Amino acid sequence: MPALTRVDQLLHEGLARPEDAPALDAVAEAFRIRISAEMRGAITSAADPIGLQFVPSDRELGERPEELHDPIGDRAHAPVPGLTHRYQDRVILHATQTCEVYCRFCFRRETVGATGTLPDEDLDAALAYIADTPQIWEVILTGGDPLVLSPRRLKAMLQRLAAIPHVGVVRFHTRVPVVAPEKITAALLEALQSDLSVFVVLHTNHVQELTPAARAALDRLNKAGIGLLSQSVLLRGINDSAEALADLFRALIRCKVKPYYLHHCDLARGTSHFRTTIAEGQALMAALRGKLSGICLPSYVLDIPGGFGKVPIGPGYLQAQENGLWQVTDPKGQTHLYQDPDR
Ligand SMILES: *Cc1c(COP(=O)(O)O)cnc(C)c1O
Ligand code: SF4
Repeated sequence: MPALTRVDQLLHEGLARPEDAPALDAVAEAFRIRISAEMRGAITSAADPIGLQFVPSDRELGERPEELHDPIGDRAHAPVPGLTHRYQDRVILHATQTCEVYCRFCFRRETVGATGTLPDEDLDAALAYIADTPQIWEVILTGGDPLVLSPRRLKAMLQRLAAIPHVGVVRFHTRVPVVAPEKITAALLEALQSDLSVFVVLHTNHVQELTPAARAALDRLNKAGIGLLSQSVLLRGINDSAEALADLFRALIRCKVKPYYLHHCDLARGTSHFRTTIAEGQALMAALRGKLSGICLPSYVLDIPGGFGKVPIGPGYLQAQENGLWQVTDPKGQTHLYQDPDR
């Protein structure tokens, strides 16, 4: 089953209505469509938790004044093309702009899909910058989705990074194990073997995405010794309930994936229908705290618009009083006092 990339295919599959086609064509001009074969098979309707993430909607034409072209400031912190250096000890390498799916809420929706693989001379310049910058301890490959690259290319890139003495960790931010599990081949697993600490940070937002083939792909990565973490985006109407998040995080732990971040949805243009309020996100995290095993809980983070970094956004359990006294709220909402030593 091929991927869906055009509005007429969506009509044919019953995932869009003919009267919406002109608006969807306008949407697709700005933000391209791609629904991988695996996700196409897992969608039951345009309104289910998978359909809402990948099937375009005319609501994407609505923009709000707070929305930004480059919501997290990737381009503001690019010392060389394809590299974002915002935090001292780690850089993001945009090895490709291609993905197996195009998520309607993507914070890089204005750049993904536009070009393919990073040109060789840009990759050379990015690796030279990393080699010349001894503070860089970790390289985060993202995109686009780095696991769309061929195992041969990934292996060569990892070997070049491993040859830089101050680099110790490589992280792949990817949706591939879930949306295109057939790409987690023996050749790919072999390519990821390295003396570096290699982590895969899986982007997944709803338990319905974790198909049997996706779970099997995660199992292959785990058995190959790859560290597995996840990041999810809090999405209105998709996973903004305590049950949906609990089911997702528990399922991830059962797949031996540690939930790492729950992102508040970024201010990308045309995505306000996906955003909850921060207060809603905090209430969801508070509802899970104490009920769900601590290993299931990610930190809820906001990437401060404009490129000022990611910070945990609560909920907060501590309030400073006077003279080293703190008021602490327990998971049931009752408050208690805690006294610091005199310093
Ligand atoms: C998110 C991000 C990172 C990784 O941050 P962690 O908190 O270490 O996961 C690194 N660089 C940039 C520019 C980022 O946006
Ligand atoms: S896979 Fe990631 S980079 Fe690609 S469209 Fe989805 S969120 Fe954006």
